[in-house]
Amino acid sequence: MISRAHRNVGSQLTTAEVDVIVVGAGFAGLYALYEVRNLGYSITVLEQADNVGGTWYWNSYPGARCDVESMDYSYSFSPELEQEWQWTERYPAQPEVLHYLNHVADRFDLRRDIRFKRRVIGARYDEDSERWIVRTDKGEQYVARYLIAATGCLSSRLKPHFNGLETFRGRWYHTAAWPRAGVDFAGMSVGIVGTGSTAIQAIPQVARQADHIYVFQRTPNFSVPARNVPLTDDMQRNMKERYPAHREAARRSAFGVPVVPNEQSALEVAPEQVKAELDARWQHGGGASILRAFADVLQDERANTIVADYVREKIRRTVRDQRTAEMLCPYDHPIGTKRICVDISYYETYNRENVTLVDIRNNPIEAVTSDGVRLENGEAFALDAIIFAIGFDAMTGALFDMNLCGRDGVRLADKWAEGPKTYLGLMTTSFPNLFLITGPGSPSVLSNMVVSIEQHVDWISHLLEHMRGQGVTVVEPTHAAEKGWAEHCAEVASGTLYPRARSWYTGHNVPGKPSVFMPYVGGVGNYRDTCEQVAQTGYAGLLFDQNEGSRVPSPGVVP
Ligand code: FAD
Ligand code: NAP
Repeated sequence: MISRAHRNVGSQLTTAEVDVIVVGAGFAGLYALYEVRNLGYSITVLEQADNVGGTWYWNSYPGARCDVESMDYSYSFSPELEQEWQWTERYPAQPEVLHYLNHVADRFDLRRDIRFKRRVIGARYDEDSERWIVRTDKGEQYVARYLIAATGCLSSRLKPHFNGLETFRGRWYHTAAWPRAGVDFAGMSVGIVGTGSTAIQAIPQVARQADHIYVFQRTPNFSVPARNVPLTDDMQRNMKERYPAHREAARRSAFGVPVVPNEQSALEVAPEQVKAELDARWQHGGGASILRAFADVLQDERANTIVADYVREKIRRTVRDQRTAEMLCPYDHPIGTKRICVDISYYETYNRENVTLVDIRNNPIEAVTSDGVRLENGEAFALDAIIFAIGFDAMTGALFDMNLCGRDGVRLADKWAEGPKTYLGLMTTSFPNLFLITGPGSPSVLSNMVVSIEQHVDWISHLLEHMRGQGVTVVEPTHAAEKGWAEHCAEVASGTLYPRARSWYTGHNVPGKPSVFMPYVGGVGNYRDTCEQVAQTGYAGLLFDQNEGSRVPSPGVVP
């Protein structure tokens, strides 16, 4: 175990060496720290925020809430933690998830290895020393053999680039950098830009406070009711008694949530049965449930349309003004091919007198003025505050922000200029000993992410143990394995409707970003099987360097 620190005399630079550096202290970074430290490695976590929580630290906007049930969206690594923690609601609100993560950090004494307020601004692999040299915005340098990027798929927020924003006399906010003290919108005219999962949660809450709220919508999204309820002691006890089997079912499921799938095609059941199935799932609530109503919802356009029509009909029945209802009906993408939104009273909110939906699809925001927002056709809206719920440079943004530089000076941003390339979403060639948690090419954002995070951390830990056992210190995927995995990912995606949506899954939300479908759609359970098979066959597809420098391909067979 290596652990060294020294301060360079006469300079700002502090260098510290450990075995493993983790960047990020959200769900992924915290579990990586726990797991890797328990293996006896020295480890430092670098986190730009001043506390743990990641997503749940930054996104404290009104209405922020989980779209996966609390008892599923939680760690499974510690049966004691699982048993002792009490959730209060079926779908936990942001403060409760943040409280949980703070509890985890304290309970497992994680904070002593986390350096807060450290943004990683550079990370370079030094081939001679076989070390990662990591720089922070504090002028420090950290050195480690292994680098784990737990930087999050949805942590690099898009900046609002609207002409004239700097002239706005009111206050503006980004939902992913929400003021910790909260914001009181009482008596204000508020504009909100965006209608993704974030906005759909925030709009009903802000509408209750503000004098008036204008929702600037470019593209409508499908949303289903959460049917949130308080969790009773009985509900919790019941789940806690069957937790091990439930967790295992989640690990082997399609989305990391053990929803009972209907194995029938939507096309082979009678219309009344279709309606009964959809009614039951709509009533049950939650996004994963309705997408599992039939076996082919995400594969067959006709099956998908049946479910999409059902939701569109619900929108029309809920929203009284039919013009507004029609504006809220999505037609541009098959349902489920963007992460389905889960809401509390979203569509109902448009029945309030103080809520106006503004269609900016063909009449975009031309400028933010000193008084509010002006559209291309000259229409102006006087606003006291603007909320930008405009999303993230997903999956690759936070990795690029670290300026990762691998073998031969290869920059990750250059290597992935035409789209991310990984082996299993976990590693990428030319970047030895770099591990990506929930990276592109893994199910990650298509799943209950805590399940995917735990699986990745476990897999990485086993690999580190394997390497230690073999006396091997450097690992990197082969080009053939990476190419094979990319082809497999593309092939599986092409058999689904997913690539039809222009979304952050495909990079379409970021101007200039290559259009590539980034997550792996093969399902959480199937993916886990593949990763296990790779490990069991001696890490097929990975190339190991031995201490003396000879490169040893794994004897295994690439899946
Ligand atoms: P994050 O929680 O994003 O943590 C990454 C951390 O890395 C952050 O703290 C960040 O500050 C830090 N970091 C990044 N770059 C650097 C750097 N260069 N230097 C230092 N620190 C850095 N998923 C679900 O499955 N269900 C949900 O209901 C759900 N709801 C969500 C709601 C919102 C509003 C958002 C944005 C995402 C949601 N997600 C949800 C996805 C969510 O991101 C994951 O579930 C999970 O929290 C990711 O954990 P993580 O640790 O991988 O990443
Ligand atoms: P998002 O889904 O990318 O939505 C961003 C919204 O902003 C879209 O409606 C987009 O319109 C709009 N937009 C972006 N730039 C714009 C511009 N210049 N002018 C006008 N409109 C603009 O981002 P998000 O809502 O933050 O959600 C991202 C992901 O985070 C979700 O998909 C989900 O995975 C996760 N999340 C989950 C929850 C939850 O329920 N637990 C809550 C929040 C977030 P276009 O569609 O036209 O681009």
